[in-house]
Amino acid sequence: MEQYEQFFNCPHCGTIISVLLDLSIPNQEYTEDCEVCCRPIEIRYEVGVDGEIDFEGRRS
Ligand SMILES: [Zn+2]
Repeated sequence: MEQYEQFFNCPHCGTIISVLLDLSIPNQEYTEDCEVCCRPIEIRYEVGVDGEIDFEGRRS
């Protein structure tokens, strides 16, 4: 399984957190709770043909 650790700021509390993306699935949308403030974050990512990751984490 190809994993990538993506760092981003929590849209609720602003803390830099990381999520592990499973790159064997080229695009996904799911909700994950912030490990600091426990509020839900909508995670969305897409892996382009060049392998570049288009990532977005926002308030759900
Ligand atoms: Zn948070």
